[in-house]
Amino acid sequence: MAMADKRRHGRPGAPSDLDRYRAAFEQSRDAILFLEGDRVRDGNPAALDLFGVPDKATLTTLRITDLSPACQPDGRPSEQAAIACIDQALHRGKALFEWVHRRWDGTEFLTEVLLSRLDLDGGPEILVSVRDISARRETEAILQRREKELAEAHRIARLGGWTADLRTGEIHWSDEACRILNMDPSRPDGTLESFMRTVHPDDRKKVRTAIDHALDTGHLHVDHRLLDPDGRMRALRHRGQVESDSDGKPARMIAALQDITEQRELEDNLRRMAAILEHTQDVVTMHDGEGAMLFMNAAARQFFGLPEVAGRALARTGDDRDRSGLPLQTLSVEETVRHVHPDWAARKVVEEGLPCARQTGFWEGETALFDACGQEVPVSQAIIVQRDEETGKTLQTSTIIRDITERRALEDRLRREKTLSDSILKSLPGVFYQLDSQGRLVRWNDRMMTVTGRTGTELDGLNALEILAEEDRQATARAIEEVFTRGYSQIESRLITRGTTTPYLFNGFRVELDGELYLLGVGIDITERKRLEAALRQKASTDHLTGAANRQRLDAELKRALAHHQRYGVPTALVMFDLDHFKAVNDTYGHEVGDRVLLGVTARVSRELRDSDILGRWGGEEFVVLLPETGLQEGFDIAERLRRAVEDECFPPAGSATISLGVTAFRAGDTPASVMTRADQALYRAKNTGRNRVMMESEDEPAL
Ligand code: GH3
Ligand code: MG
Ligand code: MG
Repeated sequence: MAMADKRRHGRPGAPSDLDRYRAAFEQSRDAILFLEGDRVRDGNPAALDLFGVPDKATLTTLRITDLSPACQPDGRPSEQAAIACIDQALHRGKALFEWVHRRWDGTEFLTEVLLSRLDLDGGPEILVSVRDISARRETEAILQRREKELAEAHRIARLGGWTADLRTGEIHWSDEACRILNMDPSRPDGTLESFMRTVHPDDRKKVRTAIDHALDTGHLHVDHRLLDPDGRMRALRHRGQVESDSDGKPARMIAALQDITEQRELEDNLRRMAAILEHTQDVVTMHDGEGAMLFMNAAARQFFGLPEVAGRALARTGDDRDRSGLPLQTLSVEETVRHVHPDWAARKVVEEGLPCARQTGFWEGETALFDACGQEVPVSQAIIVQRDEETGKTLQTSTIIRDITERRALEDRLRREKTLSDSILKSLPGVFYQLDSQGRLVRWNDRMMTVTGRTGTELDGLNALEILAEEDRQATARAIEEVFTRGYSQIESRLITRGTTTPYLFNGFRVELDGELYLLGVGIDITERKRLEAALRQKASTDHLTGAANRQRLDAELKRALAHHQRYGVPTALVMFDLDHFKAVNDTYGHEVGDRVLLGVTARVSRELRDSDILGRWGGEEFVVLLPETGLQEGFDIAERLRRAVEDECFPPAGSATISLGVTAFRAGDTPASVMTRADQALYRAKNTGRNRVMMESEDEPAL
């Protein structure tokens, strides 16, 4: 330190400038060092203290790098960095920077260092002022962390903030406020107008009024809606106050902004729930943990004949609870129960219902209540108990009661109807069955078991097709499907009945029971009907005198045979024959004998034929024989055999009889008429060449 100053300005007795500087140096709270090059020449007590160096003598032996770690946090060696900083101070006069120092005991700490160049007579020196900023840094870090946490808390709570400068009209939005208002936080638009644009158009007037009001009263308090770009409506709440400047003029408005959409929704839901409770037909009552009546809905009031209490859906809780109008001694739940239930029901609730609900939280059972007229009404009752998780203490007991008078009546009716339907099913002349949509038996009557010889266990779940003859299963499966698709179907199938099969007519209907589709059906034994039908069919297709096929059947068989021939090319022959001189038989013996001859000839011819051959009466004493799988020549041979058989037969009392025959075979392109014409022509030729003959169709007789 230069001593020249003291000499220049010193005055004896008074402290010299030098003394003052020295005192400042000694007492400074900042650590001060003097460097010569990088060597410490001097340091104040604060420096000794800061660096923990034992004494000044030791300090002055040190280089500045002895008070630094090997490297700085940016990785540069301290020595090199120190030289650079000192250089800078020497060149520019000053250097301010952060530096990590090391104490005598080796601990490191962050400092702010100011190097100043002193131009002295002996050359430039460096004055080092060192301030420990590690504590400040830590505080800054904590502050930053707190700010982040606060912002996070605001984000989670969807709580934003804003301040408006009332003189400039500028608004500053917090990040969360920007998010809530759908503004870009990096480019918030700080005007009132841009904010108003985010407000739902219907609420803008209300918001302006609230702001004006806040300027008068100092308090801002407004809720408004906001329409998101995606069309969702949200509810926002602003709460704030106005701050005035020193001369009492409003200067700033500071407000918190909160998204209360969820809260609103919750409130709405609560209101909705309350409305449901209030409007349900069920009687709903609630008791608190002490057993005092908390709430009773409109249905309950009506049920017990109490006056309606408008606007008091949910009774208030607490001491101001209004119990007026309740007829109940609401001292305990049990007492209430005994008051409103008949004895037997009260016992059930007290002994069974409440203990169960208190233990498990829920009980449901059928009890009864006295209504306003003192009538016992059957009810279904649910008890719900809410308990404190920790203490197990009952917080609230809710009871939901439904009048089941109608249900009871319905059940009675149902029981009666079931008895009726059971007896109908029993007395049904046929089998009854119910199939599920998979075609499995789910219900049947007794007759079904008797007829099929199967037990209930065997029938249960059995596929209905399995009790039917195998050949009928495919068609029946289709009929069952039709019932489910079209609603109804009918089919004749054979039911397996104790080792044999019996024809049944099944009628199935689709019904929906409890949301499931079923087939309800009745099957009737049609054995007798089948027999009658067969007999009728036989009669309708048979000639009553001779028992041969009649003309109608013959026509049908001829058509069928022709179609078959045309399709498969099977050779088929047709013989037409006529009794010779039959008129004479009639004339001689009478018509009755004539009839007997007709019958005898038919019987005789029949005996010569195969089962597949068809003998039919064409008319009068003319007959046709259809010979499937028979060629022309073979047909001729058969005809010849027939001719001889008749010739050899005796038909008393008329005696012998003969027939003339014409034979033809099916050709391509034939029609029934063309076949018959050819046969007729052949027969005609047989007649003309002396009768009792067989003539084959000739080639030149065309097919027509
Ligand atoms: P032809 O040798 O030329 O066949 O002589 P035909 O007498 O048999 O022929 P015609 O056609 O002249 O007579 C047929 C007779 O058959 C006439 C009719 O009285 C008789 N006839 C037709 N149907 C019946 C019947 O059902 N019962 C009886 N008894 N006679 C019948
Ligand atoms: Mg004739
Ligand atoms: Mg004849």
